[in-house]
Amino acid sequence: MGYVIDPAPQASVAVAGSEDRFPVRRIYCVGRNYAAHAREMGKDPDREPPFFFAKPANAVVDDNETVAYPPQTENFHYEAELIVALASGGVNIPEDEAESHIWGYAVGNDLTRRDIQLKARDQGRPWDMGKGFDRSAVIGPLHPVSEVGHPSKGSIKLTVNGEVKQDADLEELIWSVPEIISYLSGLVELKAGDVIMTGTPAGVGAMVPGDVCVVSIDGLGQITTTIGPKA
Ligand code: MN
Repeated sequence: MGYVIDPAPQASVAVAGSEDRFPVRRIYCVGRNYAAHAREMGKDPDREPPFFFAKPANAVVDDNETVAYPPQTENFHYEAELIVALASGGVNIPEDEAESHIWGYAVGNDLTRRDIQLKARDQGRPWDMGKGFDRSAVIGPLHPVSEVGHPSKGSIKLTVNGEVKQDADLEELIWSVPEIISYLSGLVELKAGDVIMTGTPAGVGAMVPGDVCVVSIDGLGQITTTIGPKA
């Protein structure tokens, strides 16, 4: 059997200290997973069940790349996030088994067309065009669990042109990584290659062409993204 057109290349992200890469199957994202960010988005941070959206696997962008300012937005935002990559999956994964499915962790930046997202939200429409556009998922090199364990506390920080915009701690996550995996696996079957963006702390804001955005997480290093001219 052949394909009637050439299949798209396998999307992948870098692995720290390796030439090999991690193949990405799906990218799931958690909404409003830090209380102070939920409040800044005008929502009640009470512990309602986590909710999810997705980005296409081929939206991934490596560390140290330039991302063109995307079309159809006047409010292009950064969101610092802890990234989780799965080596295996399942359905209805118990919380106490969730960590056994994790391959590694990375620093990420959930790029967002906030004006499109908020208009869709307020109209009860899908978020896809606000969140799942081309080159919207910056994911740095993955660090294997064998080297970094399971980070559950430590600084998560974002700067734009050297100015601190987000400065929080992973222990402020409303839903922990095992809780996220357990809950998400009750909605969809998780599989090897799935990547989860775990939500952003308070302090989100806009970038313009020429900005340099750096995200760092204790133990996972930092990633740099330069915003290029409008696409
Ligand atoms: Mn996000």
